[in-house]
Amino acid sequence: MTNALIIGGGIAGTVTAIALRKAGINAAVYEAYPPDGTAGTDGTAGTADAATTEAGAFLLISANGMEALRTIGAHQPVLDNSFPAGRADFISNTGKRLGGRPMAGSEEGALSARTIKRATLARVLREEAARRGVRVEHGKRLLAAQTGPDGRVVASFADGGRAQGDLLIGADGIHSLIRRTIEAAAPRPRFTGQHTVCGYTRDAASPPDPDTYAMIYGKRAFFGCTTAPDGEVWWFANTPGAELSKDELAAITPEQWREQLAGLFADDNTPAAEIIRASGESIVATNAYDIASTPTWSDETMVLVGDAVHACAPNAAQGASLAIEDGVVLAKCLRDLRTPRSAFAAYERLRRERVERVVSTSAGLVRRTVPGPVGRALRDAILPRKLERADADGGGADWLTGYRIDWDERVTGEVARARR
Ligand SMILES: Cc1cc2nc3c(=O)[nH]c(=O)nc-3n(C[C@H](O)[C@H](O)[C@H](O)COP(=O)(O)OP(=O)(O)OC[C@H]3O[C@@H](n4cnc5c(N)ncnc54)[C@H](O)[C@@H]3O)c2cc1C
Repeated sequence: MTNALIIGGGIAGTVTAIALRKAGINAAVYEAYPPDGTAGTDGTAGTADAATTEAGAFLLISANGMEALRTIGAHQPVLDNSFPAGRADFISNTGKRLGGRPMAGSEEGALSARTIKRATLARVLREEAARRGVRVEHGKRLLAAQTGPDGRVVASFADGGRAQGDLLIGADGIHSLIRRTIEAAAPRPRFTGQHTVCGYTRDAASPPDPDTYAMIYGKRAFFGCTTAPDGEVWWFANTPGAELSKDELAAITPEQWREQLAGLFADDNTPAAEIIRASGESIVATNAYDIASTPTWSDETMVLVGDAVHACAPNAAQGASLAIEDGVVLAKCLRDLRTPRSAFAAYERLRRERVERVVSTSAGLVRRTVPGPVGRALRDAILPRKLERADADGGGADWLTGYRIDWDERVTGEVARARR
């Protein structure tokens, strides 16, 4: 039986492991951090991936991501640990409601988008992988990977350990070492010119309706929030700014973020500033990056999934869903094609166009986060009509969230060859 080494126990790594098991392929996951995700055991300072793995950050899994989980029967633990996001309502800086759209798929019985803390999502997926017999090892920071003369791949870890497999999957996030191992000149993450900040409050005077995201176009920054089943408001803000070093990010206190953000929304006629002011200490912030295109996705024995190959700015809320889709599609390719090389080629063929389009769409949203007065007027005139159309077609049938994977459909060699 084929043995796959998966580097990274985040979203892409765990979903790939679950999907490979379903495809009858052995997989072991090697994760740098301990199970609580807060500190390395190998003495290595955390990178930006660690900052956002902290308990504070939350994310939205879109309908396409939930449906991809369903194809491998892994959606239930996520449903059990998240809450629904049925609709998004869009509000202008003047307080005018611009319209809304559903966030569920349009087909009968479709799953809706879900809100979940990022660390919770990774944990429940790791537990699900372990329940299905996947070995998940923590405190295993990869230092190097190489293919031996026998064609087997060897991974070396900071704790002195080694692992050998038939192939290696780089699910090691945006600062991927495997990306640079496959191609030394691989692109580095691109700073998008914004920070993403997450926070929580139980004291908001005007919380949004449950099951709904209020998406607020502030004059100087973007704000989104939803109400959890226990009444707590979960919010995020995308704010323009310069890239901050890890030390600079760590030095800014929640109080300072609160003051800065509340100031950015102070002139708007929306609840954003009040919600931010009512928030406590659990405010976390990160630089937002993306990777527009990675020229080389694989070599003979190694391949990339998730943020390691196509990081997406948070604005489209699609990075996690794309990571899930990658894992399912890669497992299908490895199930159906004879060699890793042909499976990797088919996987890239099936995924590249879509993921690059999503990254580019999200980058476009970053550029439109803070338009000038003319841009604002145009947006407020055009968006209501767009949202009306999306509302009428069920909102889930578009190319982005309406994407579905058929687990039973076979991947043929034609798909791999079509790449050349
Ligand atoms: C602030 C913010 C908000 C976001 N909001 C959303 C959202 O609402 N919706 C959405 O879909 N996406 C969102 N995203 C993006 C989403 O979080 C990522 O796309 C997703 O986590 C990618 O999953 P991944 O498994 O590829 O990478 P990660 O989740 O980063 O996982 C990579 C894993 O690899 C491990 N690792 C790294 N290096 C090594 C090594 N050398 N050895 C061993 N292990 C290693 C890391 O510790 C980590 O556990 C957001 C991102 C940010 C930063």
